[in-house]
Amino acid sequence: MKTRLCLVLALMGFISCSTPQQTDNKVYTAFTGATIIDGTGAAPIQNGVLLVADGRIAAMGTKNEVTLPDNITVNDLSGKTIIPGLINAHGHVGDVKGIEGGHYSKQNVIDNLSLFARYGVTTVVSLGADKGEAVALRAVADTTATQRARLYMAGEVISGNTPEEAVAVVDQNDAMGVDFMKIRVDDNLGSSAKMTEEVYQAVINRSHELGYKIATHMYYLDDAKKLLRAGSDFLAHSVRDLPVDDELIGLLREKKVCYCPTLTRELSTYVYEDTAAFFSDPFFLRTYNTSVVEPLLDPARQAQIRNNPSAQTYKQQLPTAMANLKTLSDNGVTIAFGTDSGIPTRFIGYFEHLEMAMMADAGLSPMQIIVSATSDAAKCLDLKDVGKLVTGYWADFVVLDANPLEDIKNSKSISGVWIAGEEVK
Ligand SMILES: [Zn+2]
Repeated sequence: MKTRLCLVLALMGFISCSTPQQTDNKVYTAFTGATIIDGTGAAPIQNGVLLVADGRIAAMGTKNEVTLPDNITVNDLSGKTIIPGLINAHGHVGDVKGIEGGHYSKQNVIDNLSLFARYGVTTVVSLGADKGEAVALRAVADTTATQRARLYMAGEVISGNTPEEAVAVVDQNDAMGVDFMKIRVDDNLGSSAKMTEEVYQAVINRSHELGYKIATHMYYLDDAKKLLRAGSDFLAHSVRDLPVDDELIGLLREKKVCYCPTLTRELSTYVYEDTAAFFSDPFFLRTYNTSVVEPLLDPARQAQIRNNPSAQTYKQQLPTAMANLKTLSDNGVTIAFGTDSGIPTRFIGYFEHLEMAMMADAGLSPMQIIVSATSDAAKCLDLKDVGKLVTGYWADFVVLDANPLEDIKNSKSISGVWIAGEEVK
């Protein structure tokens, strides 16, 4: 029903607008008074009402559009801003504790997901190095998690010297129970062998045969094009060697493939050559204490990074990656927010906010960044019922003290995070 007609009828006492039935015995919670950014790119709603029941959004709109059921809990959020929970379309979980890797366990998967959640990241797509311990924690298997981010995973990163070897890994991942497949097509700046076209074509074909989307790690423009022609469904990093061209833009658009820049991945390769500026950010320190970063302040380690040719090449190519993000966004390519965090020295939770700030530095508007980190990230990987604040979707959202449309860095002004309608402690 059109809002105006609804309002007229409501004022005449005939009906109520967007009001759930009181006879359904559901427990409703309302969040009122905030500016609501719904994640779709639509203009924000002032003095909005978000009504939640059974972990999902029961109604959303302006104060005039949503009539509250009787006897419900009302959270007055006047002056605050609500955004959908952030979605990291390229992260990793389970391996890292502090700045060290090698800690994979079910408990550490849970700990990492909890850390993501406390920073407002309510869904994470782990693109590789996932083990059987995490299968039970996947979003599709576990829809009631409220104190940690929802998890999607790719299992083992597929590799192999022959098509047969690599396809066997696809089948293992399938048997384990994954959501996506993931390959790496990269020579790590000339230091390792790159997966051949014959091998990745076989992997892509087998993945599609089994019904999976396949994400690809790549570095070079030429590989990105070849991978798109071969059927890759997701570019999991930036093109970093050259400016993107019309041919790549055409392929991405024609095949409706999303591009995931992971700018903080580049940053992490060289930023510890010095004392990283964010080590003194209170938003960083609220979770990561100074002892965690102590090893990164070691002068010998810093010198090693300054003298490491790979680190310095990644540093030198970051402006290319940032310019490519802007070009692709301007040309209508869908940008899926991702960080490649959850790898040692890529700080879970904090890096997602740093990534948004870097996307702004690249020239994207706050609204474009929010859409990328919510509804577009969900759309790109077919994630269900997350990424938008609309009726029927999971009530996963972040309450901010300051409006991120004014400055994306306001994403750090987190007042509370809610997953499935429950506040993250
Ligand atoms: Zn990764």
